[in-house]
Amino acid sequence: MSKCATCQDDLPKMTFWESIRNIAEYRINFPNDPEMKFPMEIICDDCYERYMVYHNSLTPAERIELDKQAKEDFENEKRG
Ligand SMILES: [Zn+2]
Repeated sequence: MSKCATCQDDLPKMTFWESIRNIAEYRINFPNDPEMKFPMEIICDDCYERYMVYHNSLTPAERIELDKQAKEDFENEKRG
């Protein structure tokens, strides 16, 4: 069983429809990453909700900056 990257709780196994819904939600919440190319850590619903409170408190400009930073970190990691 996979675990939440934040709190290490066991994650429930997702149904097919739940995973589709998550992808749709991701596209809405992270419009700067329509291809879902950013590195993603799997987290539980509780941690996700806490994260989204933080995420939604950001201004659009701050979100773009944060996404850009995440992408750069990812690229740097890939290059080693
Ligand atoms: Zn969690």
